[in-house]
Amino acid sequence: MSCALRNIGILAHIDAGKTSLTEALLFLSGSIRCVGSVDQGNTETDWMAIERERGITISAAATHCQWKGTRIVILDTPGHVDFNAEVRRSLRVMDGAVILLCGVAGVQAQTEPVLKACRQAALPMLFFVNKLDRRGASLGRVLADLRSQLDIPVIPLQCPLVLEDKFLGMFDLMRPFFHPASCYEHGGPGSKFVDAPELYPPYIDLRAALWEAAAELDDSLMESFVAGRAPDAERLAAVLSRAASSGQVAVLLGGSAISPDTLPGLLDGILAYLPSPEDSRPPLGVDPRNGSPACRRLSSDESFSALAFKQTNVESLGRLVYLRVFSGRLKSGQRVWDASLGRFVKVLGLYRLRASRTEAVDEALAGDIVAASGLADVQTGHSLCDPGNPIIYEPIEFQEPVMSIVIEPRDSGQGAALAQAATNLVEEDPSLRLGEEAGSGRLRLSGIGELQIEVALDRLSREYGLKGLRIGKPEVNYRETISVAGKGEGLFDREVDYRRHFARVFLKAQPGERGSGISLVINNQEKGKKQGLFAQAALRGARGALESFGGFGYPLADVAVEILSLEIDAKDSSELAFEAAASMAARIALLDAKPIILEPYMRLEVGLPEDALGSVLERIKGRQGRIELIEDAPDGKVVSAYLSMRTLFGLAGELRSDASGRLTLSQRFSHYEPLPLHL
Ligand code: GDP
Ligand code: MG
Repeated sequence: MSCALRNIGILAHIDAGKTSLTEALLFLSGSIRCVGSVDQGNTETDWMAIERERGITISAAATHCQWKGTRIVILDTPGHVDFNAEVRRSLRVMDGAVILLCGVAGVQAQTEPVLKACRQAALPMLFFVNKLDRRGASLGRVLADLRSQLDIPVIPLQCPLVLEDKFLGMFDLMRPFFHPASCYEHGGPGSKFVDAPELYPPYIDLRAALWEAAAELDDSLMESFVAGRAPDAERLAAVLSRAASSGQVAVLLGGSAISPDTLPGLLDGILAYLPSPEDSRPPLGVDPRNGSPACRRLSSDESFSALAFKQTNVESLGRLVYLRVFSGRLKSGQRVWDASLGRFVKVLGLYRLRASRTEAVDEALAGDIVAASGLADVQTGHSLCDPGNPIIYEPIEFQEPVMSIVIEPRDSGQGAALAQAATNLVEEDPSLRLGEEAGSGRLRLSGIGELQIEVALDRLSREYGLKGLRIGKPEVNYRETISVAGKGEGLFDREVDYRRHFARVFLKAQPGERGSGISLVINNQEKGKKQGLFAQAALRGARGALESFGGFGYPLADVAVEILSLEIDAKDSSELAFEAAASMAARIALLDAKPIILEPYMRLEVGLPEDALGSVLERIKGRQGRIELIEDAPDGKVVSAYLSMRTLFGLAGELRSDASGRLTLSQRFSHYEPLPLHL
């Protein structure tokens, strides 16, 4: 493996400029000959037709470019909250994140979960403040915002050059005062070099922030800082590079995605301040042979291991599985072990991705991100490895869907095609789920938001030619839980196949914390007995009852069940009896515990012009929304509110028309609350 590789993602709130930035970086590095424009719908990474039409990015497309001898693989992650699963999934396979912020709006609703997710994953971050060409943009304000939200230092490395309200370019704070060569300007470094006194104060402020933060990282830098001397440039660069690429600090750069000349500093920054795959922290896994923790050195000399993180269908190649190779090498035509399936799979071809284009390659090395064909049964989240040295990486988790719709074919002839197409969509985006409507057997597609479902329906019609489908009304995915503790006793004493079967099980159910899911344990003493098989049977029976309980017909959540004791008859007890008795006991305990319905609540954030505030607040209140916060933003207001998913359908459209489209909207799942009794 070479160190001349960076796998990065660009993460941001919608509209911060990810697609424009990706496009500009590809252009700068010579990968594309002209810059596509989001506004004109001809960008390289927004390649699905619907993305181009709506100007949003949906599937994390990967693309790559060369910069100063290093290959930079860019996963263009989606900004819309409905597609958050895609973002989190791609965090697993990148080595560093470029977090893009709008210079005017600063830290926005979607930035916060992104920051949190990156910190949780201990992923090194590099901040890029975009849109510095816009009036009202301020790198200093964004820096202050970030510093108040993060538990690691954020260190500015550039200062915008703004003269008489005009954005001229970026200046490098690591270099001496206003050296022409350190200026990333329109027209290239130093092309329109300006030296005006009013440029100095912001430069000096930011540089002081840089020196002070760097001093905290290194004794000799601290010595210079205390003595009031400029730090040694080489030392400064080395210390910052080490601290940033290990995630100890994050650096902050800026520019404008629509003026590519201001961006070479970002490409340089990606090489200097984000780690190569070799320098990244190896992900943890388990050895499936004995369940013990396992880890691989991230080197091509190690045995092979990879994680499947995405699937797509490409017309000419069929189903492609995107792999991140963590260790070893993979050749096209090779048979490898799918540790998640527990069997061999064969790679037919390997491809490097350039969004909609693909180039065939013979071999992928540790650190590479490639797409493989031929892996029919390999799903997102599977681990592939060397059969002699297996490892299973942590599977990828997806958010629970909060809403669903029922889809029916136009006529019976369309049924099979619809089922196949819907299966493909769900494979590509595992935060979509496919099920059957109870009773009718019609297809039910669930997802995490209206836009996601809308996009899926659009793809059915456009890509799969399924026109005229009958689509039901959007419905909320309710859950149920219990409101108090309950107890249950299950007795099974019956003759089955001319033999008496006896078991008695005592069990209790308690409300769990929200989001805790279902837990099921057996009292320690019972587990320790030699009647272990009966205990296992009781657990099976109780689990089955929990999974199928549905007092109101919804899946159960947030319940903690403990099997308290088992009454065993030395002669007549059996596993069958324990399974049945525990199932009964669980149902009785749940009913005793007063089941209630839970509904999903979403946190909505609306950015809007001031004159639309009144009507937007009215709309939200009209839907029983709880306004949490109304903040000033440079170009209007930002309203944050909690709304039940039940009341959210159609709101986005209404709000957009109130504000004549001048509005940004994001929503994410927040929590569950009991459904009011009158409903
Ligand atoms: P994404 O949603 O994050 O992918 O953002 P896009 O790249 O689609 O950009 C959203 C809008 O902001 C588009 O209209 C872009 O033309 C515009 N935009 C992006 N970057 C800049 C920038 O640096 N300056 C200005 N003035 N506009 C920008
Ligand atoms: Mg985009």
